Amino acid sequence: MNKNKKQFEFDALILSPGIAMGPAFFFRRIAIDLEEYNYKVTDIEKEINAFHKACGSSKENLIHTQQLSKKLYDDQFSDVFESQIAILEDTIFLQEIENEIKKGKKSAAIAINNIFKMKKEYFLNLDNEYFRDRALDIADLKQKLLHEIFGIGTDYQLSVPSIIFSELLTPSDTVNFNRNLILGFVTDTGGKTSHASIMAKSLHIPSVVNSDNLSKIIMSGDYVIIDGYIGKIFVNPSQKTIDECIVRKSKFEDHRAKLVKETNLPCMTLDNEEVKIYANVEFVDELDEVKLNGGEGIGLFRTEGLFFERDSIPTEEEQFVLYKKFAEKLKDIPIILRTVDAGGDKLIKDINQPQENNPFLGWRGIRVYLDEPEIFINQLRAIFRSNINGNIKILLPMISCIRELRQAKEIIEEVKNQLEKEKIQFNPKTELGIMIETPAAAMMADIYMGEVDFLSIGTNDLTQYTLAVDRTNIKIAKLFNDMHPAVLKLIKNVVEISDQNQKEISVCGELAGNPRAVAILLGLGVRILSVSPILIPEIKKVIRSVSLTDCKKLVDSILYCDDAFKVIEKADRFFEDKIPNYEYLV
Ligand code: PEP
Ligand code: MG
Repeated sequence: MNKNKKQFEFDALILSPGIAMGPAFFFRRIAIDLEEYNYKVTDIEKEINAFHKACGSSKENLIHTQQLSKKLYDDQFSDVFESQIAILEDTIFLQEIENEIKKGKKSAAIAINNIFKMKKEYFLNLDNEYFRDRALDIADLKQKLLHEIFGIGTDYQLSVPSIIFSELLTPSDTVNFNRNLILGFVTDTGGKTSHASIMAKSLHIPSVVNSDNLSKIIMSGDYVIIDGYIGKIFVNPSQKTIDECIVRKSKFEDHRAKLVKETNLPCMTLDNEEVKIYANVEFVDELDEVKLNGGEGIGLFRTEGLFFERDSIPTEEEQFVLYKKFAEKLKDIPIILRTVDAGGDKLIKDINQPQENNPFLGWRGIRVYLDEPEIFINQLRAIFRSNINGNIKILLPMISCIRELRQAKEIIEEVKNQLEKEKIQFNPKTELGIMIETPAAAMMADIYMGEVDFLSIGTNDLTQYTLAVDRTNIKIAKLFNDMHPAVLKLIKNVVEISDQNQKEISVCGELAGNPRAVAILLGLGVRILSVSPILIPEIKKVIRSVSLTDCKKLVDSILYCDDAFKVIEKADRFFEDKIPNYEYLV
């Protein structure tokens, strides 16, 4: 912080709550084309030297960074650098890379890539948070070494814990940075339901959007605060601002700690209507958090997270091992695994996604695997095999017509027959559900109902497609209104039909995790909400503070509003009237 610099203050849209303070880091994506380095090596000595040179300079940089970080943050982030330096000093590890160069006749870059990839996958598969964290350090170190080899500057490399500023972040960007060094995210674009922000929330990283083109005003290294409670960015904050932020942070955190203590109280409305709260999960690390926060199930496991964490599509065996671990760890609660939903803003390396004019209207979700069933088949086999306790269910994304569902079911039957033929143990009774996230599916819910065991409403896409508003576009973020009467009417239709057919129905979009929307969903008849684990205590508090009778009255008064902003006004008034300390619920 420079005391002589003037403080600037900007408004920002909150994507993930919390306060972060630290130096700004401007992220610019640099594409590395490894293919260029995939040549048959003739001069082995040259490649080995290049490798050692990269190790030497990376180690030097790491030691320097470690000292800097100690000065700025004491020992808080020391582990990261410690473990990366230790890898560079591990003679067995170094030998493995040398062998890959010598015996495999690979270039230094390809050898580093291959061995690091193997190590990262090994650590990711270990059931231990400490080692899974080390997998991130390994991925980060690989980037550092490759950048040394290519002689190019920063990309995903953070030298000190930083607040990342970027025009745009993709979900894979959020996992490519070393998570242990990210303090916060500021992007020029993105919406509350863009996948990068959902991931930031999962990772508990404060995150905001500001479209003022801050890169023209702020420089890398400037001290900034992002306040994801009140939606502000402070550049060169004054001591007064810093003190206020610290006080606000501790007030919000104290309030949250109180809610966490109450989270295992029965989840019932004031008039004793029972509601279930499940969790939306992206990363394996979050599983422990689900129970700690009082989650009664996993309502949505976005399996794309597993695909982003690796540099390639996980094999059937890798997925089987993971899913089996989930099933064992959480054997007494349901786990809804959504088959991979690639496309839109979720581009997955190794799935050949084309450049599309409208990616959200394009090759996404189920459309991908009906064209390329192999990814789907591998994932289904892993799920069926791992569901020995019977608590895993399958959820299909992006259904927009019955034909797709029927085709998917044919593949599912083939997979079961195959497993039977191969005499592999599996659970043929694994339940099947679909996401209701296109208006077509919401309007035809009565037809789908007969073909599946359960339904889950994805309000993020349902809103995007109903209102024709791109969920990632900040310019039209005000129009992305998941409390729009058109969206609420579709939800009402689906819930009523599910009740008539006695099918389980939940809501898993971000609307379910919005404390101001909970009363509306309850009034519409929803009894299972699936939300980010961090939000479970808040949402339970809201449920315990309202009566169903009042929620139904609220719904009666809003369903026929002619405008979304009128709905929000009424929902806000209800919320502020009924919920104690509502100002601490973001
Ligand atoms: C949704 O669309 O509401 C949903 C939960 O799925 P995703 O956010 O992963 O698209
Ligand atoms: Mg969706």
